[in-house]
Amino acid sequence: MTVVETLPKILSAGIPSPIPNGQMIPDLFEHHHVTVLENHRLSSVENGRVILENEGQKKALDADSIVIAVGFRLAPSMRAELQGCGAVVYEIGDGQKVSTILHAVWEGYEVGNNI
Ligand SMILES: Cc1cc2nc3c(=O)[nH]c(=O)nc-3n(C[C@H](O)[C@H](O)[C@H](O)COP(=O)(O)OP(=O)(O)OC[C@H]3O[C@@H](n4cnc5c(N)ncnc54)[C@H](O)[C@@H]3O)c2cc1C
Repeated sequence: MTVVETLPKILSAGIPSPIPNGQMIPDLFEHHHVTVLENHRLSSVENGRVILENEGQKKALDADSIVIAVGFRLAPSMRAELQGCGAVVYEIGDGQKVSTILHAVWEGYEVGNNI
């Protein structure tokens, strides 16, 4: 198995990853002999081969399965639809900003405490 990351370091995109993930995932990769290619950008897939770019150089990897996991995107907000519904609407968690379980729980706690 090979993990390909376009940034110089895995787990560094977007929001900071939870600390246990940052500690556990590299250990698990090492334990299971997973190859991690940082600074490598997936540019195409051709005839069962993954084409990667690194510092202007192209390289090909044979692959029988490819899993694309290139980030989270905010789902459209329901705020506009709910305006004028007669109740106060609070938007929290990933619906407001893609983040982590911790932030969703904190925001729920804050709103719950203030209603
Ligand atoms: C693959 C993946 C891995 C992750 N790993 C981690 C991790 O290791 N640690 C971490 O802290 N965070 C992680 N996260 C982020 C974390 O899951 C989210 O930040 C968190 O779940 C946000 O909570 P939430 O309640 O805002 O949204 P969600 O947990 O997404 O809950 C929203 C719920 O609303 C429901 N819903 C949507 N529309 C409607 C509607 N119209 N009516 C009724 N229900 C509706 C959905 O079905 C869903 O069940 C991960 C996210 C993903 C996608």
